[in-house]
Amino acid sequence: MCIIKTIKEVRKEIRKADDGKEISIGFVPTMGYLHEGHLSLIKRARKENDLVVVSVFVNPTQFAPHEDFDSYPRDVERDYNLAIESGADIVFAPEKDEIYEKNSLTFVNIEGEITKKLCGKSRPTFFKGVTTVVAKLFNIIQPTNAYFGQKDAQQVAIIKKMVKELNYDINIIPCSLVREHDGLALSSRNVYLNNEERKQALILSKSLFTAKEMFLNGEKNVQKLKQFIINNIKTQNLADIDYVEIVDAKNLEDIETIDRTALVALAVKIGKTRLIDNIYLEVE
Ligand code: AMP
Repeated sequence: MCIIKTIKEVRKEIRKADDGKEISIGFVPTMGYLHEGHLSLIKRARKENDLVVVSVFVNPTQFAPHEDFDSYPRDVERDYNLAIESGADIVFAPEKDEIYEKNSLTFVNIEGEITKKLCGKSRPTFFKGVTTVVAKLFNIIQPTNAYFGQKDAQQVAIIKKMVKELNYDINIIPCSLVREHDGLALSSRNVYLNNEERKQALILSKSLFTAKEMFLNGEKNVQKLKQFIINNIKTQNLADIDYVEIVDAKNLEDIETIDRTALVALAVKIGKTRLIDNIYLEVE
């Protein structure tokens, strides 16, 4: 097996494995530069499916013109080896033109607050790019189960909604966020951080962990928890907050008191690198 670059070829390989037997297909979409976070999704897919397909595609439609599409880290050969070692059967790494027709006019877009708040606020076209590419990849791979990391909690909620509303017969499996030993959420973008930025980036997870402790000790007031996190992050001179929000974990709606399971999500620029992180505050 080798890296598969065309839709025709990946469909052929899946058909070959399927051979009319109705096998389960686990799918892990990624933008590559794989780390342990991605690999945890692949390993889980391996356990739960007959065939595991991993895609590696830096999706141009989810980047705004001023964002880091060109500089996004890429190493497909390395990704291929890591994915196979972690249990992938097929690595699909198409070029841009294979996925998007020139001047393509068809997009999948979820309207409403769910795509407009949190990351959608400062990245207004981001989720349209995400839902479009995920819908295309679902149509190409036709998986039984698709694996997404809770690192991108808003993305999980949006993909679940898309799958329900477009009647895809695919199970969306959310997987836990994987962190470095010191708490930093693993991200392909962490390679952009220099030593000082890497140090200061720890304020994100530290603030989230402390907020969780405050919650467990009885603090249920959203405004107070939010303000604590904001003040904490502001102690770092390289940190520039995009947002800190606490919302209903299921539908991402605003809440004032944590009387149901909540998602604490944040996006912060450390130097030039925009990082996201989140934590759940669980209510039984
Ligand atoms: P990306 O390549 O960043 O688009 O991520 C591909 C998939 O891996 C998405 O479902 C992400 O949520 C997931 N992922 C990325 N980082 C992590 C992490 N630290 N822990 C768990 N899943 C992750």
